[in-house]
Amino acid sequence: MEHTEQYRDGKLCASLAGQITSMCTEDMRIMEVCGTHTVSIFRHGIRTLLPRSLSLISGPGCPVCVTDQAELDAFIEIANMPDTILATFGDLMRVPATGSSLEKEKARGKDIRMVYSTMDALALARANPDRQVVFAGVGFETTAPTIAASILAAHAENLSNYSVYCAHKLVPPALEALMGLSGVEIHGFLLPGHVSVIIGGQAYASFFEKHRIPCVIAGFEPADMLMGIQELTEMISSNTPGLENAYGRAVSWQGNPRAQKVMDRVFKTANARWRGLGEIAKSGLSIREEFAAFDAARRFSIDPRPAAAPAGCACGEVLTGRCLPPDCRLYGTACTPADPLGPCMVSSEGTCAAYWKYNR
Ligand code: SF4
Repeated sequence: MEHTEQYRDGKLCASLAGQITSMCTEDMRIMEVCGTHTVSIFRHGIRTLLPRSLSLISGPGCPVCVTDQAELDAFIEIANMPDTILATFGDLMRVPATGSSLEKEKARGKDIRMVYSTMDALALARANPDRQVVFAGVGFETTAPTIAASILAAHAENLSNYSVYCAHKLVPPALEALMGLSGVEIHGFLLPGHVSVIIGGQAYASFFEKHRIPCVIAGFEPADMLMGIQELTEMISSNTPGLENAYGRAVSWQGNPRAQKVMDRVFKTANARWRGLGEIAKSGLSIREEFAAFDAARRFSIDPRPAAAPAGCACGEVLTGRCLPPDCRLYGTACTPADPLGPCMVSSEGTCAAYWKYNR
């Protein structure tokens, strides 16, 4: 707690906010890539400390928000297979698929279990040998190693009733896609802390070298985020772009080699479809041939069909900084946290949910 408190120090935060204000003599647009940053920025009132000339825009770093509609439909399909238990983290439960959600399917009697770790899903498989347990693999590099570890454990135990439907996404290719997107102007990136713990600063080096755009990795306490924003505004105002790490107490240049090794052992990169960004080459993970028996898509021949996002939902634009939640005509009318239409209003890391909770 003491270690956390020092990053919530009011004087330090006020000083950083003052430095940021002095730097913002022109309009600046910084994208916080990570959904946890978006929510943390709102929760701590960071925006109220910043000058009007500085815009913080939310990026595609909320895992359930960027999950493609077809993948959400695949989870519904799995939940409806006979003798099957679908295991998932809780944030996926209320995300609307086409005409349903996991929560609704559970209410209809399908066996869908919320788990807190992949090890809980493995325990379910051990306890239910006559049923198939499928884990809904959604998330970025932060969660992928734990899911890879569950596959290695299942492989070691010869567990024949456990598999993963792999819908994982990778952050650096999404940054690349954002740079090619028309209608969005970004002067610097506040890079995700959790993901960077695993992949390290090195993972952004080629992206930075190619685009020479200011990039700073930041943590989630108020001073962490303000330090990151301060470094970005300094680079932008002095036109000296760099790739910096403002979260040194958790993130190294190399990242976590052990987690990377586990991930590489089980997964290989694959093309993936993102809500709002479309298909991005090598931006996802698929399960290697050696572990094909644990790949739910292959085991159950699931071939997701393209599916349209909910009509009128602007999540794709919100996730890519092209509009703000209140710009969506459904915000607060047809779409509220109690009755969400798009994933950005459901997820605890969703931009629309954060706007609704903190910015009304
Ligand atoms: Fe989608 Fe609802 Fe956000 Fe509109 S307000 S973009 S419908 S989640």
